[in-house]
Amino acid sequence: MNENLDLNEFHWLLAVVQSIDVGVVVLDREYRIHVWNTFMENRSGLQPHEVHQQSLFSLFPEIEENWFRHKVEGVVTLGTPAFTIWEQRPYLVKFKNYQPITGQEEFMFQNTTILPLQATNTSIEHICLIIYDVTSVATNKQQLQAANLQLQQLSRTDRLTGLHNRGYWEECLQHEYARHRRYQSMAALVMFDIDHFKKVNDSHGHPAGDKVIQAVAEVMREQVRDTDYAGRYGGEEFVVLLPDVDSAAAKLFAERLRRRIESLLVTYEGQTIPFTISLGVADLSDPAEDYQQLIERADQALYAAKEAGRNQVKVYRGNPMAPPPRTRT
Ligand code: GH3
Ligand code: MG
Ligand code: MG
Repeated sequence: MNENLDLNEFHWLLAVVQSIDVGVVVLDREYRIHVWNTFMENRSGLQPHEVHQQSLFSLFPEIEENWFRHKVEGVVTLGTPAFTIWEQRPYLVKFKNYQPITGQEEFMFQNTTILPLQATNTSIEHICLIIYDVTSVATNKQQLQAANLQLQQLSRTDRLTGLHNRGYWEECLQHEYARHRRYQSMAALVMFDIDHFKKVNDSHGHPAGDKVIQAVAEVMREQVRDTDYAGRYGGEEFVVLLPDVDSAAAKLFAERLRRRIESLLVTYEGQTIPFTISLGVADLSDPAEDYQQLIERADQALYAAKEAGRNQVKVYRGNPMAPPPRTRT
């Protein structure tokens, strides 16, 4: 009677293993396959008789043999399970992804458990692999991460120009200033403003003004290095932070930018709109209490450039008698 019960239980367990939606594989110490459930059969297209006694590594060359052996050795020696997760290794065996909803991934993401199987004499001669299909979890997480990255980029970017917006640009400056405090690194700031921009709007219309602003941003992108930070500071005010550069070098950059803009031809509805910019340059060679001081200094130099007649570059000279910085709107 008892034996019958045990046999029944055994059959039930077998039916469960065959029908559950996870892969079950039993391997011996030579990595030969002994058990291959229906999940594995369906996903691999290989029937149990085709894989029986075959080496796992020869059937699935994608498994990194050294890594997997090491993992299994640990399971056998310690007698405790080990796990692999999709974030570290997307899959153990490469199966096609059949899930219709998350069909964009070509393969099945997997988590795996490696279980030690104790024989009746307590030695561990076999291990069991349990393979979970976690494709939908993985693709959802990846989509969420991609969406978050996109949101982060949007929150840092100025809509009209695609340059860094003021908030993010100031974060970059703050970061660069901290680097300067710690390592005495140099940095220069070029701040500029379009001359008589109100006239552009008044004579050509606001959309034409927008086009001019976009054209300026395009020139900036063309002129800066990958390591520079170009931002739109306000309506028609722009900033470029140049790490590891002093004001003498920044002045050359500013002068190049000025000339490039001066010769730029922006046309709107058949009309050419000539315009110029005034630029202020400052660097961190004078001690600055905080990053805002660098902005104030560049702003003062920009103001001086406007005062001196516009379409020119002025460098902050650290004049202690200089008027307090004007407030910008
Ligand atoms: P200045 O040479 O002294 O700089 O003269 P300005 O006319 O450029 O003077 P100001 O900087 O005060 O004027 C800025 C103008 O820019 C005012 C505002 O209407 C316009 N403006 C600000 N943001 C935008 C924008 O996004 N698009 C357009 N088309 N115009 C803008
Ligand atoms: Mg202006
Ligand atoms: Mg302005």
